[in-house]
Amino acid sequence: MQGIDFQEDKWHEECGVFGIYSHQDDVALNTYWGLFALQHRGQESTGIAVADGKSMQIKRGMGLVPEVFKDGVGDLSGHIAVGHVRYSTTGASMAFNVQPLKVYFDGGNLALSHNGNLTNACELRRKLAKDGVVFQTTVDSEVVLSLIARSRREKIEDRVAEAVNEIKGAFAFIIMTEDKLLAVRDPYGFRPLCLGRLEHGWVVASESCAFDLVGAEFIRDIMPGEMLMIDDDDAEPKSMMYSSNQPAKSAHCVFEYVYFARTDSVIDKQSVYEARLNMGRELAKETSHIKADIVISVPDSGTAAAIGYGLEAGIPFVEGLTKNRYVGRTFIQPTQKQRQNAVRLKLNVVAPLVRGKSVVMVDDSIVRGTTSGKIVKLLKDGGAKEVHVCISSPPVTDPCYYGIDTSVRKELIASTHTEEEICRYIGADSLHYISKEGLKRAFNSLDAEGMCYACFDAGYPDDAENVLRQGSKLLFENEK
Ligand code: SF4
Repeated sequence: MQGIDFQEDKWHEECGVFGIYSHQDDVALNTYWGLFALQHRGQESTGIAVADGKSMQIKRGMGLVPEVFKDGVGDLSGHIAVGHVRYSTTGASMAFNVQPLKVYFDGGNLALSHNGNLTNACELRRKLAKDGVVFQTTVDSEVVLSLIARSRREKIEDRVAEAVNEIKGAFAFIIMTEDKLLAVRDPYGFRPLCLGRLEHGWVVASESCAFDLVGAEFIRDIMPGEMLMIDDDDAEPKSMMYSSNQPAKSAHCVFEYVYFARTDSVIDKQSVYEARLNMGRELAKETSHIKADIVISVPDSGTAAAIGYGLEAGIPFVEGLTKNRYVGRTFIQPTQKQRQNAVRLKLNVVAPLVRGKSVVMVDDSIVRGTTSGKIVKLLKDGGAKEVHVCISSPPVTDPCYYGIDTSVRKELIASTHTEEEICRYIGADSLHYISKEGLKRAFNSLDAEGMCYACFDAGYPDDAENVLRQGSKLLFENEK
């Protein structure tokens, strides 16, 4: 039996955020459970901050939610809380970068959780540093706290609006003062953020799957360019369209549906599971020339698409690969060295199912191309007659600047190799990527034109590469 770290060739979501306002519920405990449901969005560090109207407490640390809070959350009490799970991309993997970030300013304590990536953070940081601002972390989110603290506006919502109008890039923020909870989504809506209702109270989270665990009812997505302010258990949150530069079209991240989000989440009205199922169906239509006996998935993220493929193609979906579910997602490690040293996740072939069969193997993406070949070899060693690799995303050719553990272009196999070369490299009998049009057709409840596809075509909706070029040369020097 052979084991491989099959998730090392995936892009990793950077963060998950959660916030709650309620005088009736245990807000710290609910945040713990909310973060637990969002753990797939980041496993490197976590934290919870709680406010009681007069003061704020915080507990943060490196590790998974149950590790950091192994002694419980009993020492955190109040009626408002924000939480965060993190996988670092901007800012090193250090304890001082763990979120929520907390500062003290003239309005009292302020805590912030961020999912996304600010493309003009370097530029803003440099300007603020020149003005004497001292930074305690290396994360991009800290500039937002500085901007809020420096604002001359009186009301916190106006200060936040002024601050977020200065930043560019992707952000879903949950911000907490000693008596208010604010949730802000960037004008393009790159990263998800939604609102839920408790019997007496409100919750906001990156994904709706977090609501089920805390007994909240999903109310709606927070709109691109919208800020919500919550300061009452029962009154409707105050909504404000804050953006002074609202684009005509949104740019929701298509990869949330391809891979990042949990299948039981509904994001921007679109069921993640249904979208993945439809991606498989579209892939089957585009590869109807393949005469296969069975379809299998690379578990778990490829499973919904593989089921959709099987339904459309009329061939059985079987679990030809099995995953050891008890190893944990150890692949979420911020450096290559740590990845290599991490305990390897196990993926094994169920040989009796694949022996002598022509197999369609569905996976969601190939990023660096480091693992697909190993999985194909596992299947061939298990006796598969043919292995046709079908990918439910188009070739990943360009980096993401919106909050994903991104690679420079030269590390993306599809930016340097043709599909024929990749097929030979991974040892498959054939390789097929879903077309961009096929991917768009997979969305049955969301306008596919209002999405970001930049990692497939470099069509960055907000000119991110130029903004980054002005702020940081380093990133692009690495590309050479
Ligand atoms: S570049 Fe790709 S991963 Fe990044 S936000 Fe756009 S679709 Fe998502």
